[in-house]
Amino acid sequence: MKVSIAGFKELSLIDVHGHTSFTLWFCGCNLMCPFCHNWRLAMNDPEVCREEDVDEIISMLSVSSPLVEYLHITGGEPLLQLEPLIDLYVKSKSIGVLNSLNTNLTMPTQLEALLSQNLIEHLATDLKIPFPEMSGLGSLSERPWAHFMQSLNVLKKYRVVVELRIPVAKNITLKYLRDYLNKVGDFISDLWGVYVVVNPLIGAPMLSPRNPAWAEQYCNPDVSEVEEVARVVKEVLGVKVYTKKWW
Ligand code: SF4
Repeated sequence: MKVSIAGFKELSLIDVHGHTSFTLWFCGCNLMCPFCHNWRLAMNDPEVCREEDVDEIISMLSVSSPLVEYLHITGGEPLLQLEPLIDLYVKSKSIGVLNSLNTNLTMPTQLEALLSQNLIEHLATDLKIPFPEMSGLGSLSERPWAHFMQSLNVLKKYRVVVELRIPVAKNITLKYLRDYLNKVGDFISDLWGVYVVVNPLIGAPMLSPRNPAWAEQYCNPDVSEVEEVARVVKEVLGVKVYTKKWW
């Protein structure tokens, strides 16, 4: 079976918090986040995306398997290619590797189809605050946001460790933070093994985000702002909070 990917990293120390992974980037995405630095693969750019055979990927994973704990599949939005996604997870499990998915949680039907097969142990997602701005969809974001909430409902039925990432945009995130935490708080408290990673958004010159003008204005928040986001998240959600540090 073939899958459209942009590439993989045989050994990553940063994609699953506190664990090693073989990380694989799927192509295609249904959101348009202005800070996205994977926007070319998200748009299926033929210069960065290629068709790869699932069995080829598994044979490369098996070489790395003594060193990695997880197969971490990210994108893009991996649930857009559900069939090869499931095939990869079935085969990685058969060689003793745990499975991790990074998803934007806007495809609840596909999510349930995957989770109901008990194939993944870890799931990472962003809580984009505020969703219309951070998803890049503006007035078209109502339905995907409803799907995000629906996906949280699906997720709480399964025993999967959840890494909830909060991207921090300068002068935006803090303004809407409590409002959004209150919206999702009840769902989050029902999740199994949930922790939060506060993730300050990085712009140029380190990365090349989709919307350079937006990134110039809102990326690279002050340390004090990032620390305040972490403090409020801990206070409201009462879960373990880690902060990604680039300073
Ligand atoms: S959901 Fe992820 S891959 Fe898709 S546009 Fe947003 S940041 Fe990029």
